[in-house]
Amino acid sequence: MKKFQETLYDAVSQTLRIDEMLFEQKTEFQHLMIFRNEFLGRVMTLDGVIQTTEKDEFIYHEMMVHVPLFAHGNARKVLIIGGGDGGILREVLKHSALQQVTMVEIDGEVIEMAKQYLPGHSAGAFEDPRASIVIADGIEFVRDTDLRFDVIISDSTDPIGPGEVLFTEQFYAQCKQILTADGIIVTQNGVPFFQLDELITTRQRMGGLFTDQTFYSAAVPTYYGGIMTFAWGCDDPGKRLIDLATLQSRFAESRIQTRYYTPQLHQASFALPQYIQHALR
Ligand code: SAM
Repeated sequence: MKKFQETLYDAVSQTLRIDEMLFEQKTEFQHLMIFRNEFLGRVMTLDGVIQTTEKDEFIYHEMMVHVPLFAHGNARKVLIIGGGDGGILREVLKHSALQQVTMVEIDGEVIEMAKQYLPGHSAGAFEDPRASIVIADGIEFVRDTDLRFDVIISDSTDPIGPGEVLFTEQFYAQCKQILTADGIIVTQNGVPFFQLDELITTRQRMGGLFTDQTFYSAAVPTYYGGIMTFAWGCDDPGKRLIDLATLQSRFAESRIQTRYYTPQLHQASFALPQYIQHALR
């Protein structure tokens, strides 16, 4: 039986049984693979790293979207960087008050393959009239656009290959330029038990740009190694400290059905373990 062995770390890796290979291609930017695993359903990998699985994608996509959007409470325009599988776009568009969602993905092949092999991820989101899909390098888009956004979600690969630029101070500074005054940026920031340096680097590069820069977390089973962190940047600390009753009423009003996100979890997700707090000092 063929197996997929993840190549993110040298000393430790996870292995998935490949029950059926569905698609494999070297795109212009990365090595794209989609296969079926009996337990996880369909799995997408890029450059040997698991990006998303049908079984656990809801955890990551709900926490990356509903935490900033319910914290903001009044978002109208959202920018997604990366997110080629469409899961983030699907969750963002559930917020009916949103007027415009722009998604900037560098590799059009990822979108095409995800539409075909992971249809449940986008679930029609790419056809939503509020969505505009841009095929471009995220760092060039944020440098050149004259649009402004209430929330920016950077759902990138890890800082290897095309994703590397999305972890630079230049990228964070450009995002700050195109955010509204009380806008929020959240970014995929790795699994700190294995990638603590990524978290420290993000603090060094983003910490000086925003009044309130911290992290929140969720445990995504196939992002191996315990909790993964999302970086948070906002100039209005009140957004992160929204009281539970307000979060609960916003969540109820939205009528969004979730399988992971709850207002209580939203608040709890900002509580960080000592080893992370010490590393950030
Ligand atoms: N949830 C996954 C994770 O946490 O690793 C990432 C999901 S998504 C598949 C990552 C996307 O980022 C990919 O579609 C990749 O093509 C895109 N990407 C990488 N570098 C990029 C860049 N510089 N600009 C825009 N999109 C980029």
